[in-house]
Amino acid sequence: MKTGELTDFKADGIFIYVGNVPSTGFLRGKVEMDERGYIISNDMMETSVSGVYVAGDAREKYLRQVVTAAADGATAAVAAERYIIEREDFIAETNPNKPLLMAFWSPVVEGSLEMISGLEKAVAGSGNKFRLMKIDMSCKKNIAKKYNIREVPSVYLIKDGKEPVRIKPDVAITGLEKLLNK
Ligand SMILES: Cc1cc2nc3c(=O)[nH]c(=O)nc-3n(C[C@H](O)[C@H](O)[C@H](O)COP(=O)(O)OP(=O)(O)OC[C@H]3O[C@@H](n4cnc5c(N)ncnc54)[C@H](O)[C@@H]3O)c2cc1C
Repeated sequence: MKTGELTDFKADGIFIYVGNVPSTGFLRGKVEMDERGYIISNDMMETSVSGVYVAGDAREKYLRQVVTAAADGATAAVAAERYIIEREDFIAETNPNKPLLMAFWSPVVEGSLEMISGLEKAVAGSGNKFRLMKIDMSCKKNIAKKYNIREVPSVYLIKDGKEPVRIKPDVAITGLEKLLNK
């Protein structure tokens, strides 16, 4: 290419490598991509659409090789499986006609475990009129993302099929009965 010189080589086969064009046209307008058509994702292989994952050369990334494509695939598969499990758990929890307390906690955040045990006692004390969903933010990130929850520990109440309302942990622990009538 540099000198324009032509040379003949005898070969049994060739791999043609004349540049990269990702075959992502069918996804244009559906998931976020860069100007060249590579799909934008984070380190969990999540795309701009919740529940849609990408792996391999089609994603915007630094190194396109077999080893990175396979690694992406492993990450995407695990992330997608967790997404489905979390979603199924969440749907199972929110269906019945009982108010739901969602407690976002993390084993590495101070005060989290105290909050969880306080809530467990309060829920038992209320005669189990509430359901308590404990969401460990160190491994379950999808529900937190769905409700844009960043602070840990924190408590949200879902009642009568309405949007979650944030309540102070100590209010949930000491005044659970009052929340029923609010
Ligand atoms: C000439 C060349 C040499 C390379 N040498 C090396 C090397 O030595 N070492 C290395 O690690 N990497 C090498 N690579 C890079 C490596 O091949 C890629 O990084 C890797 O194959 C990417 O894997 P992938 O599964 O993401 O994509 P691909 O292997 O490209 O697989 C994507 C598949 O999806 C199919 N497809 C596309 N659109 C659709 C559609 N709409 N519906 C259904 N199927 C579809 C395609 O036909 C293809 O089979 C080389 C690449 C080239 C081109």
